[in-house]
Amino acid sequence: MIRAVVALGANLGDTAATFAEAVSELRDLPLTTDVVCSEPIESVAITLDGPDPSAPGYLNAVALLTTRLAPSVLLDALNDIESRHGRVRAERWGSRTLDLDLIAYGEVASDDPRLTLPHPRAHERDFVLGPWASVDPRARLAGHGRVADLVERLREAAR
Ligand code: ATP
Ligand code: CA
Ligand code: CA
Repeated sequence: MIRAVVALGANLGDTAATFAEAVSELRDLPLTTDVVCSEPIESVAITLDGPDPSAPGYLNAVALLTTRLAPSVLLDALNDIESRHGRVRAERWGSRTLDLDLIAYGEVASDDPRLTLPHPRAHERDFVLGPWASVDPRARLAGHGRVADLVERLREAAR
C-alpha cells in the first residue's frame, strides 16, 4: 500500500462541483482507499507569461489516498478523470476544467518526463504545498524536507 498525493486544479466551469465529483471518482478507483481532500483554496492563474489576474482564477486542493495501483496506472486513471471533465490540452499552462497532478507516490523518485516523481514543480507552488500541509501537517517532499517548512519559506519570500 502506497500513500499518494494528488493536486487538483481548475479555473473553468463550476470548479467546486468538479472537485467534488473528482474526489468521488478518486474514491471509486480500484485498489484505492482512504481518500481525503483538503479544503479548496483560490489562486491567481499562472500562465507562461507569469501571474495573470485577468484570467479566471483557480481553485486548488490536494487529495491524499492509499493505493496499490502502480504509479503509471494511477496517472492514467487521473488522466481519465480529467478527460471525463472535459479537459483539453491546448497551450501549456492554459485554462482548464480539471488538472490532476501526481505530486508524490510514496518515496518513489523518477525522472521519466511522462511521470516525474515527485512532481518537479511542486516544491515551488504554494497552491500545492499549502493545501497539502493542511491535510498532512507532517508531510515531507522528497529532496525538499517538510512541506510545512516549504510553505513557511515561500510565504516569507513573498513578503
Ligand atoms: P505542470 O506539470 O507544470 O503542473 P500541467 O499540469 O499544465 O503543467 P499537463 O499538460 O497536465 O501539464 O501535463 C503535461 C505532461 O506532464 C503530461 O503529458 C504528463 O505525462 C507529464 N507528467 C510528468 N510528471 C507528471 C506528474 N507527476 N503528474 C502529472 N503529469 C506528469
Ligand atoms: Ca499541473
Ligand atoms: Ca497536469
